[in-house]
Amino acid sequence: MFDIEQIDAGRGIVQYRREHLTGLRCRISPERIKRGIGQYYSLAPPSGECPFCPDRVREETPVFEDGTRIEIGESITFPNLYPFAECHTVTVISRDHDVERFSVRQLSDALLGQIESLKRHGGYASINWNYLPSAGASIAHPHLQGISDRSPSTLAECYLAGSYRYRARRGTIYQDDLLAHEMDAGRYLFGDEIPWIASAVPLGEREVRGLLPIRILEEAESYTDCIAEGMREIIEIFRDTGSMAFNASIFFEKPGCDSGFRAFCSLIARINPNPWSTSDSAFMERLQLEPVILTLPEAFAAYCRRR
Ligand SMILES: [Zn+2]
Repeated sequence: MFDIEQIDAGRGIVQYRREHLTGLRCRISPERIKRGIGQYYSLAPPSGECPFCPDRVREETPVFEDGTRIEIGESITFPNLYPFAECHTVTVISRDHDVERFSVRQLSDALLGQIESLKRHGGYASINWNYLPSAGASIAHPHLQGISDRSPSTLAECYLAGSYRYRARRGTIYQDDLLAHEMDAGRYLFGDEIPWIASAVPLGEREVRGLLPIRILEEAESYTDCIAEGMREIIEIFRDTGSMAFNASIFFEKPGCDSGFRAFCSLIARINPNPWSTSDSAFMERLQLEPVILTLPEAFAAYCRRR
């Protein structure tokens, strides 16, 4: 399922990894973690001008065509004011601007708000999260972003097309075979209904994937608690390993299609907010599309299982 080639780069090893299904590649250089970059964590205090705080969110955010927002528990969902998709919605997760520890209820309600807002569109949907400015959040107040389009995003397309080819060739579902393979590969973390595994070819630092036993967005409605439990656990593990910031995406197939694809949730740890704007995305990640990763997935999985 994966190629792993290792060289001795003089000062430590470098692994070149490739996923057969998609052709996606990355490099892993464990030595580079010794640089200790991004361990410093500082965040500007809330300015009191946050449009997602409770006293302003209903004044300053748009409404759907029917004049409403979707409110589930603490969460509140509305259209993105500056969309980059046919359907682009925002879900403010919490009343609090700074959240010490997300509850399963908070995350599950926010996921339900996203599903409700996206299923009206009926396209290729994903639910996404940039947490903290260094992970791309322009507003620090925790919020999810859902997008849905007639065509899938580039990465979703890789997995949709790959899963289709895989089933046509072998007659089996790629994600079923992946799970069977990963249970003994030293990358399984936890979870039964939704197994969470360290990604063999990580697209970002300490990438974890939750393999969902569903295809489309609507089916996720009955799994939001389970997804939220897993996400919360991964966020806690990231924090234990010194990373406050992260990105998350949950990918779905379009209703009415059946390519052999199964939905999955991906989380990656990101560099912490820092006063020098030091980035964890450079020419390899942005222009050569081949991320340089510092943590071996097997070492990360071993850490998680010990924890
Ligand atoms: Zn706020």
